[in-house]
Amino acid sequence: MALKENELARFARHIPLLTEEGQEKLKNATALITRCGGVGGAAALYLAAAGVGRLILVHEGNTTWSNLNRMILQSYDWVGKPRIVKIRESIHRLNPDVEIIAIAEPFTEDLGNELASQADVLLSCTPVWRERVALNSVAIRYRKPLIEAAMNGMEGTLTVIVPNETPCLRCIYPEDPTNDWWDPWGFPVLGAVAGMTGCFAAIEAIKVILGRGTGDKGRKTEQGTRDTGHKVGKPLTNRMLIFDTANHDYRIVKLRRLPNCPVCGQE
Ligand SMILES: [Zn+2]
Repeated sequence: MALKENELARFARHIPLLTEEGQEKLKNATALITRCGGVGGAAALYLAAAGVGRLILVHEGNTTWSNLNRMILQSYDWVGKPRIVKIRESIHRLNPDVEIIAIAEPFTEDLGNELASQADVLLSCTPVWRERVALNSVAIRYRKPLIEAAMNGMEGTLTVIVPNETPCLRCIYPEDPTNDWWDPWGFPVLGAVAGMTGCFAAIEAIKVILGRGTGDKGRKTEQGTRDTGHKVGKPLTNRMLIFDTANHDYRIVKLRRLPNCPVCGQE
């Protein structure tokens, strides 16, 4: 699908970075996001703003007062009502052209198995550890790139998992974490840090989508160098960004695949 006239206008500030071909790739792409709260809501909104054509959004439950410090797609007059309805409405207020498949269920591996084949990129934005593990297994099974974005308090982590090429979530965390970093209902959240983590996830998802069909190596130019056409860089693979906004400490650590990883080791 080529870009329409109103899309060329909407993305006029994008195209110098992404190229028109890149913008078309976004339009023809589908992103699956598990939970659209503080992190996933920001990711979904920015992917919609960026012109990603289709979003599959999984988020259960009703809006509560305690959501409103971070869930920017919700609103105070929606407390007690289904979050997913307001998520769709808020995204469509910004970009009505985005097709949204909204699912108000907890994310499970079975649900992921149903949905994964429709998606080009998966974004793990849920605070619930078992949902992250489930999405990781789905990503490996269906060979879908997975953006892993997590936060707690003032801190966060980010990496991009490419099945068969990079460590998976289980390689990074061989054991289920038991510390309170992963206590989904209790950990503290500064809304802006959640939003920033979601924006990081959206940036990586855009890179992954733009890299499709090029192997991210780009085309050979007359000078023999590689030109990917776009200026957004390469996804954060085989490395993890670990950041702490309290002191603005940003570190990138190298990641290795776990030999005999129970999830990705057989591949
Ligand atoms: Zn693994």
